[in-house]
Amino acid sequence: MRALCYHGKHDIRCETVPDPTIEDGRDAIIKVTACAICGSDLHLYDGIMPGMETGDVLGHETMGEVVEVGKDNTKLKVGDRVVVPFTISCGECFFCRRGLYSGCERSNPDKAAAEKLWGHSPAGLFGYSHLLGGYPGGQAQYLRVPYADVGPIEVPEGLTDEQVLFLSDIFPTGYMAAENCNIHGGDTVAVWGCGPVGQMAIKSAFLLGAERVIAIDTVPERLALARRSGAVTLDFMDEDIYDKLQDMTSGRGPDSCIDAVGTEAHVTASADSVLDRVKTATFMGTDRPHVLRQAINCCRNFGTVSIVGVYGGLLDKMPMGSAVNRGLTFRMAQTPVQRYLPELMARIERGEIDPSFIITHRAGLEDGPELYKTFRDKQDGCVKVVLKP
Ligand SMILES: [Zn+2]
Ligand SMILES: [Zn+2]
Repeated sequence: MRALCYHGKHDIRCETVPDPTIEDGRDAIIKVTACAICGSDLHLYDGIMPGMETGDVLGHETMGEVVEVGKDNTKLKVGDRVVVPFTISCGECFFCRRGLYSGCERSNPDKAAAEKLWGHSPAGLFGYSHLLGGYPGGQAQYLRVPYADVGPIEVPEGLTDEQVLFLSDIFPTGYMAAENCNIHGGDTVAVWGCGPVGQMAIKSAFLLGAERVIAIDTVPERLALARRSGAVTLDFMDEDIYDKLQDMTSGRGPDSCIDAVGTEAHVTASADSVLDRVKTATFMGTDRPHVLRQAINCCRNFGTVSIVGVYGGLLDKMPMGSAVNRGLTFRMAQTPVQRYLPELMARIERGEIDPSFIITHRAGLEDGPELYKTFRDKQDGCVKVVLKP
Protein backbone atom coordinates (compact mmCIF):
# COMPACT_ATOMS: atom_id res chain seq x y z
CA MET A 1 0.00 0.00 0.00
CA ARG A 2 0.97 3.65 -0.22
CA ALA A 3 1.56 5.56 3.02
CA LEU A 4 3.11 8.75 4.36
CA CYS A 5 6.33 7.84 6.17
CA TYR A 6 8.63 9.76 8.50
CA HIS A 7 12.26 10.09 7.46
CA GLY A 8 13.47 12.75 9.90
CA LYS A 9 12.82 16.42 10.44
CA HIS A 10 10.98 18.01 7.50
CA ASP A 11 11.30 14.80 5.48
CA ILE A 12 8.02 12.97 4.91
CA ARG A 13 7.70 10.67 1.92
CA CYS A 14 4.82 8.90 0.22
CA GLU A 15 6.11 5.33 -0.12
CA THR A 16 5.06 1.77 -0.76
CA VAL A 17 5.04 -0.27 2.48
CA PRO A 18 3.68 -3.74 3.36
CA ASP A 19 -0.12 -3.97 3.78
CA PRO A 20 -1.22 -4.36 7.40
CA THR A 21 -2.53 -7.74 8.53
CA ILE A 22 -4.65 -8.97 11.43
CA GLU A 23 -2.33 -9.58 14.40
CA ASP A 24 -4.89 -10.13 17.15
CA GLY A 25 -8.42 -11.52 17.20
CA ARG A 26 -9.92 -8.16 18.15
CA ASP A 27 -8.23 -6.27 15.27
CA ALA A 28 -9.85 -4.94 12.13
CA ILE A 29 -8.32 -3.70 8.88
CA ILE A 30 -9.79 -0.50 7.46
CA LYS A 31 -9.56 0.65 3.84
CA VAL A 32 -8.99 4.36 4.38
CA THR A 33 -11.42 6.65 2.54
CA ALA A 34 -10.31 9.90 4.19
CA CYS A 35 -7.58 11.00 6.59
CA ALA A 36 -6.29 14.35 7.79
CA ILE A 37 -3.08 16.07 8.80
CA CYS A 38 -3.30 17.28 12.41
CA GLY A 39 -1.57 20.23 14.06
CA SER A 40 0.10 17.75 16.39
CA ASP A 41 1.57 15.94 13.34
CA LEU A 42 3.55 19.14 12.82
CA HIS A 43 5.44 18.49 16.06
CA LEU A 44 6.62 15.26 14.40
CA TYR A 45 7.35 17.07 11.14
CA ASP A 46 9.41 19.64 13.05
CA GLY A 47 11.36 16.87 14.78
CA ILE A 48 10.52 17.87 18.36
CA MET A 49 8.67 14.72 19.44
CA PRO A 50 11.08 12.08 20.73
CA GLY A 51 10.78 8.40 19.79
CA MET A 52 10.21 8.68 16.03
CA GLU A 53 11.98 6.18 13.76
CA THR A 54 12.74 6.22 10.05
CA GLY A 55 9.89 4.70 8.08
CA ASP A 56 7.19 5.20 10.73
CA VAL A 57 3.77 5.57 9.07
CA LEU A 58 2.13 8.82 10.21
CA GLY A 59 -1.46 9.86 10.82
CA HIS A 60 -4.08 9.59 13.55
CA GLU A 61 -7.21 11.14 12.01
CA THR A 62 -8.66 8.39 9.86
CA MET A 63 -11.88 6.80 8.68
CA GLY A 64 -12.83 4.20 6.15
CA GLU A 65 -14.48 0.90 5.34
CA VAL A 66 -13.86 -2.32 7.26
CA VAL A 67 -12.33 -4.91 4.91
CA GLU A 68 -11.20 -7.58 7.38
CA VAL A 69 -12.16 -8.47 10.96
CA GLY A 70 -10.33 -10.62 13.52
CA LYS A 71 -12.02 -13.78 14.80
CA ASP A 72 -12.78 -12.40 18.27
CA ASN A 73 -14.26 -9.12 17.09
CA THR A 74 -18.04 -9.37 17.33
CA LYS A 75 -18.75 -5.65 16.95
CA LEU A 76 -17.56 -4.91 13.40
CA LYS A 77 -18.27 -6.61 10.10
CA VAL A 78 -16.82 -6.26 6.61
CA GLY A 79 -18.37 -3.30 4.83
CA ASP A 80 -19.01 -1.17 7.95
CA ARG A 81 -18.13 2.49 7.53
CA VAL A 82 -16.31 3.75 10.62
CA VAL A 83 -14.37 6.65 12.13
CA VAL A 84 -11.29 5.59 14.14
CA PRO A 85 -10.36 7.52 17.34
CA PHE A 86 -6.68 8.50 17.60
CA THR A 87 -6.44 6.90 21.04
CA ILE A 88 -6.04 3.12 21.19
CA SER A 89 -7.89 1.64 24.15
CA CYS A 90 -8.56 -1.88 25.40
CA GLY A 91 -12.01 -1.16 26.90
CA GLU A 92 -11.36 -3.35 29.95
CA CYS A 93 -8.63 -1.86 32.15
CA PHE A 94 -8.96 0.41 35.22
CA PHE A 95 -9.05 3.58 33.08
CA CYS A 96 -11.13 2.32 30.15
CA ARG A 97 -13.82 1.07 32.56
CA ARG A 98 -14.05 4.62 33.91
CA GLY A 99 -14.36 6.17 30.46
CA LEU A 100 -10.80 7.55 30.64
CA TYR A 101 -9.79 5.81 27.42
CA SER A 102 -6.69 7.90 26.74
CA GLY A 103 -5.25 6.60 30.02
CA CYS A 104 -5.53 2.95 28.89
CA GLU A 105 -3.01 0.80 30.77
CA ARG A 106 -2.73 -1.88 28.14
CA SER A 107 -2.43 -0.26 24.73
CA ASN A 108 1.11 1.11 24.97
CA PRO A 109 3.64 -1.72 24.57
CA ASP A 110 6.46 0.83 24.97
CA LYS A 111 5.18 2.11 28.29
CA ALA A 112 8.56 1.86 30.05
CA ALA A 113 9.96 4.68 27.90
CA ALA A 114 6.90 6.86 28.55
CA GLU A 115 7.07 6.14 32.29
CA LYS A 116 10.67 7.26 32.37
CA LEU A 117 9.77 10.59 30.75
CA TRP A 118 6.34 11.27 32.30
CA GLY A 119 6.09 9.10 35.43
CA HIS A 120 3.23 7.04 33.99
CA SER A 121 2.26 6.06 30.49
CA PRO A 122 -0.89 7.20 28.68
CA ALA A 123 -2.64 5.10 26.01
CA GLY A 124 -0.97 4.13 22.75
CA LEU A 125 -1.74 6.40 19.79
CA PHE A 126 -1.74 5.83 16.04
CA GLY A 127 1.27 7.22 14.21
CA TYR A 128 2.68 9.11 17.15
CA SER A 129 6.14 7.81 18.05
CA HIS A 130 7.58 4.82 19.84
CA LEU A 131 6.93 6.50 23.19
CA LEU A 132 3.25 5.89 22.49
CA GLY A 133 3.31 2.41 21.05
CA GLY A 134 4.88 2.91 17.62
CA TYR A 135 1.57 1.98 15.96
CA PRO A 136 1.53 2.59 12.18
CA GLY A 137 -0.78 5.51 11.45
CA GLY A 138 -3.68 6.14 9.13
CA GLN A 139 -2.24 8.47 6.48
CA ALA A 140 -2.19 5.39 4.32
CA GLN A 141 -4.40 3.27 2.12
CA TYR A 142 -5.04 0.71 4.88
CA LEU A 143 -4.91 0.77 8.68
CA ARG A 144 -4.77 -1.99 11.27
CA VAL A 145 -6.98 -1.00 14.20
CA PRO A 146 -6.10 -2.80 17.46
CA TYR A 147 -8.97 -3.30 19.96
CA ALA A 148 -11.27 -2.49 17.05
CA ASP A 149 -14.27 -3.63 19.09
CA VAL A 150 -13.77 -0.57 21.36
CA GLY A 151 -12.64 2.43 19.33
CA PRO A 152 -14.28 2.76 15.92
CA ILE A 153 -17.76 4.24 15.68
CA GLU A 154 -20.10 3.39 12.84
CA VAL A 155 -21.22 6.26 10.60
CA PRO A 156 -25.01 6.61 10.18
CA GLU A 157 -26.51 6.71 6.67
CA GLY A 158 -26.57 10.09 5.02
CA LEU A 159 -23.46 11.65 6.56
CA THR A 160 -20.43 12.36 4.33
CA ASP A 161 -16.84 11.46 5.18
CA GLU A 162 -15.99 15.12 5.60
CA GLN A 163 -18.79 15.68 8.12
CA VAL A 164 -17.63 12.89 10.44
CA LEU A 165 -13.86 12.50 9.85
CA PHE A 166 -12.93 14.96 12.61
CA LEU A 167 -14.63 12.81 15.24
CA SER A 168 -11.30 10.96 15.14
CA ASP A 169 -9.60 13.77 17.07
CA ILE A 170 -10.08 17.49 16.65
CA PHE A 171 -13.83 17.76 17.23
CA PRO A 172 -13.79 15.78 20.50
CA THR A 173 -10.56 17.54 21.46
CA GLY A 174 -12.00 21.02 20.88
CA TYR A 175 -15.22 19.98 22.58
CA MET A 176 -13.36 18.62 25.62
CA ALA A 177 -11.42 21.90 25.84
CA ALA A 178 -14.70 23.79 26.09
CA GLU A 179 -16.39 21.25 28.38
CA ASN A 180 -13.42 21.43 30.75
CA CYS A 181 -14.14 25.16 31.13
CA ASN A 182 -17.34 24.29 32.99
CA ILE A 183 -19.13 27.07 31.13
CA HIS A 184 -22.02 28.91 32.77
CA GLY A 185 -24.46 31.23 31.01
CA GLY A 186 -22.91 34.68 30.52
CA ASP A 187 -19.33 33.37 30.51
CA THR A 188 -16.53 34.80 28.41
CA VAL A 189 -14.12 32.19 27.04
CA ALA A 190 -10.79 33.22 25.50
CA VAL A 191 -9.21 30.81 22.99
CA TRP A 192 -5.53 31.08 22.05
CA GLY A 193 -4.89 29.55 18.64
CA CYS A 194 -7.40 29.46 15.77
CA GLY A 195 -6.05 26.35 14.09
CA PRO A 196 -8.36 23.36 13.65
CA VAL A 197 -8.67 22.51 17.36
CA GLY A 198 -9.14 26.15 18.30
CA GLN A 199 -11.93 26.46 15.72
CA MET A 200 -13.66 23.39 17.17
CA ALA A 201 -13.23 24.79 20.70
CA ILE A 202 -14.86 28.08 19.64
CA LYS A 203 -17.89 26.32 18.14
CA SER A 204 -18.12 23.99 21.14
CA ALA A 205 -17.94 26.85 23.66
CA PHE A 206 -21.01 28.38 22.00
CA LEU A 207 -22.76 24.97 21.89
CA LEU A 208 -22.14 24.70 25.65
CA GLY A 209 -23.60 28.12 26.40
CA ALA A 210 -20.77 30.67 26.36
CA GLU A 211 -22.04 34.20 25.87
CA ARG A 212 -18.84 35.49 24.31
CA VAL A 213 -15.78 33.82 22.81
CA ILE A 214 -12.61 35.85 22.23
CA ALA A 215 -10.31 34.19 19.69
CA ILE A 216 -6.60 35.04 19.51
CA ASP A 217 -4.33 34.38 16.51
CA THR A 218 -2.56 36.36 13.81
CA VAL A 219 -3.35 34.49 10.58
CA PRO A 220 -6.09 36.48 8.76
CA GLU A 221 -7.94 33.43 7.32
CA ARG A 222 -8.07 31.79 10.74
CA LEU A 223 -9.36 34.92 12.43
CA ALA A 224 -11.99 35.30 9.70
CA LEU A 225 -13.14 31.72 10.24
CA ALA A 226 -13.40 32.35 13.99
CA ARG A 227 -15.54 35.43 13.34
CA ARG A 228 -17.84 33.37 11.13
CA SER A 229 -18.42 31.12 14.15
CA GLY A 230 -19.42 34.17 16.18
CA ALA A 231 -16.16 34.91 18.02
CA VAL A 232 -14.67 38.34 18.64
CA THR A 233 -11.07 38.20 17.39
CA LEU A 234 -7.75 39.68 18.51
CA ASP A 235 -4.50 39.69 16.49
CA PHE A 236 -1.60 39.19 18.90
CA MET A 237 0.78 40.98 16.55
CA ASP A 238 -1.36 44.13 16.69
CA GLU A 239 -2.63 44.20 20.25
CA ASP A 240 -1.40 43.71 23.79
CA ILE A 241 -3.50 40.67 24.61
CA TYR A 242 -3.45 41.11 28.39
CA ASP A 243 -4.51 44.76 28.22
CA LYS A 244 -7.17 44.09 25.64
CA LEU A 245 -8.69 41.17 27.58
CA GLN A 246 -8.72 43.31 30.74
CA ASP A 247 -10.57 46.04 28.86
CA MET A 248 -13.12 43.58 27.51
CA THR A 249 -13.91 41.97 30.89
CA SER A 250 -14.26 44.92 33.28
CA GLY A 251 -10.68 44.47 34.40
CA ARG A 252 -11.37 40.97 35.70
CA GLY A 253 -10.12 38.63 32.96
CA PRO A 254 -11.95 35.91 30.98
CA ASP A 255 -13.86 33.27 32.99
CA SER A 256 -11.87 30.58 31.22
CA CYS A 257 -8.85 30.46 28.92
CA ILE A 258 -8.19 27.71 26.38
CA ASP A 259 -4.64 27.07 25.15
CA ALA A 260 -5.11 25.47 21.72
CA VAL A 261 -1.56 26.30 20.62
CA GLY A 262 0.78 24.11 22.62
CA THR A 263 4.46 23.70 22.45
CA GLU A 264 5.41 25.51 19.27
CA ALA A 265 3.96 28.93 19.94
CA HIS A 266 4.67 31.63 17.40
CA VAL A 267 7.71 33.61 18.54
CA THR A 268 6.67 37.12 19.49
CA ALA A 269 8.76 40.03 20.64
CA SER A 270 8.05 39.37 24.33
CA ALA A 271 11.11 38.54 26.40
CA ASP A 272 9.84 35.15 27.61
CA SER A 273 8.97 34.09 24.06
CA VAL A 274 12.44 34.95 22.75
CA LEU A 275 14.06 33.11 25.66
CA ASP A 276 11.94 29.99 24.95
CA ARG A 277 13.13 30.07 21.38
CA VAL A 278 16.77 30.21 22.43
CA LYS A 279 16.37 27.43 24.99
CA THR A 280 14.64 25.00 22.61
CA ALA A 281 17.10 25.79 19.82
CA THR A 282 20.01 25.00 22.16
CA PHE A 283 18.30 21.90 23.65
CA MET A 284 18.12 23.52 27.10
CA GLY A 285 14.33 23.32 27.14
CA THR A 286 11.79 21.09 25.41
CA ASP A 287 8.81 23.39 24.92
CA ARG A 288 7.90 27.00 24.16
CA PRO A 289 5.05 27.68 26.59
CA HIS A 290 4.61 31.40 25.96
CA VAL A 291 0.87 31.06 25.29
CA LEU A 292 0.26 29.06 28.45
CA ARG A 293 2.00 31.67 30.60
CA GLN A 294 -0.14 34.38 29.04
CA ALA A 295 -3.35 32.38 29.44
CA ILE A 296 -2.61 31.88 33.15
CA ASN A 297 -1.91 35.55 33.74
CA CYS A 298 -4.99 36.68 31.80
CA CYS A 299 -7.48 34.29 33.44
CA ARG A 300 -9.76 35.78 36.10
CA ASN A 301 -9.43 34.80 39.77
CA PHE A 302 -10.82 31.27 40.31
CA GLY A 303 -11.16 30.82 36.54
CA THR A 304 -10.19 27.77 34.50
CA VAL A 305 -7.20 27.26 32.21
CA SER A 306 -7.96 24.46 29.76
CA ILE A 307 -5.02 23.05 27.82
CA VAL A 308 -5.42 21.08 24.58
CA GLY A 309 -2.30 22.17 22.75
CA VAL A 310 0.31 19.42 22.98
CA TYR A 311 3.32 19.76 25.30
CA GLY A 312 6.08 17.18 25.33
CA GLY A 313 8.28 17.64 28.36
CA LEU A 314 9.33 20.16 30.98
CA LEU A 315 8.01 23.70 30.87
CA ASP A 316 10.15 26.60 31.97
CA LYS A 317 9.06 29.66 33.99
CA MET A 318 5.47 28.65 34.63
CA PRO A 319 3.71 31.37 36.68
CA MET A 320 2.55 29.00 39.41
CA GLY A 321 2.47 31.93 41.85
CA SER A 322 -0.26 33.52 39.78
CA ALA A 323 -2.21 30.27 39.55
CA VAL A 324 -1.94 29.31 43.22
CA ASN A 325 -2.63 32.70 44.73
CA ARG A 326 -5.64 33.30 42.50
CA GLY A 327 -7.19 29.85 42.72
CA LEU A 328 -7.04 28.83 39.07
CA THR A 329 -8.19 25.39 37.95
CA PHE A 330 -6.09 23.56 35.34
CA ARG A 331 -7.75 21.01 33.08
CA MET A 332 -5.94 19.08 30.34
CA ALA A 333 -5.75 15.67 28.65
CA GLN A 334 -5.12 13.72 25.55
CA THR A 335 -8.81 13.39 24.74
CA PRO A 336 -10.57 10.17 25.77
CA VAL A 337 -12.20 10.30 22.34
CA GLN A 338 -14.44 7.23 22.67
CA ARG A 339 -16.25 8.84 25.60
CA TYR A 340 -17.44 11.73 23.42
CA LEU A 341 -18.32 9.90 20.21
CA PRO A 342 -22.03 9.04 20.68
CA GLU A 343 -22.90 12.55 21.86
CA LEU A 344 -20.92 14.37 19.17
CA MET A 345 -22.13 12.08 16.38
CA ALA A 346 -25.69 12.95 17.50
CA ARG A 347 -24.90 16.68 17.40
CA ILE A 348 -23.67 16.29 13.80
CA GLU A 349 -26.76 14.28 12.86
CA ARG A 350 -29.04 16.94 14.35
CA GLY A 351 -27.25 19.58 12.29
CA GLU A 352 -25.97 21.53 15.34
CA ILE A 353 -22.49 21.53 13.85
CA ASP A 354 -20.88 20.52 10.55
CA PRO A 355 -17.16 20.12 11.34
CA SER A 356 -16.24 20.14 7.63
CA PHE A 357 -16.33 23.96 7.74
CA ILE A 358 -12.60 24.06 8.49
CA ILE A 359 -11.42 22.10 5.43
CA THR A 360 -9.37 24.27 3.06
CA HIS A 361 -7.31 21.67 1.17
CA ARG A 362 -8.25 18.31 -0.36
CA ALA A 363 -5.75 16.08 -2.15
CA GLY A 364 -4.51 12.54 -2.72
CA LEU A 365 -1.93 10.80 -0.53
CA GLU A 366 0.88 11.54 -3.01
CA ASP A 367 0.48 15.28 -2.34
CA GLY A 368 0.74 14.70 1.42
CA PRO A 369 4.44 15.62 1.86
CA GLU A 370 3.95 18.96 0.10
CA LEU A 371 0.81 19.70 2.10
CA TYR A 372 2.60 19.09 5.42
CA LYS A 373 4.80 22.00 4.45
CA THR A 374 1.89 24.19 3.28
CA PHE A 375 0.04 23.52 6.56
CA ARG A 376 3.12 24.09 8.73
CA ASP A 377 3.87 27.42 7.02
CA LYS A 378 0.17 28.42 7.11
CA GLN A 379 0.49 29.21 3.41
CA ASP A 380 -2.28 29.39 0.83
CA GLY A 381 -4.92 29.98 3.52
CA CYS A 382 -4.36 26.45 4.80
CA VAL A 383 -6.36 25.55 7.93
CA LYS A 384 -7.09 21.85 7.46
CA VAL A 385 -5.89 19.26 4.94
CA VAL A 386 -7.94 16.17 4.08
CA LEU A 387 -6.29 13.40 2.06
CA LYS A 388 -8.27 10.80 0.12
CA PRO A 389 -6.02 7.78 -0.52
ZN1 LIG B 1 -4.65 15.16 16.00
ZN1 LIG C 1 -7.67 0.08 28.62
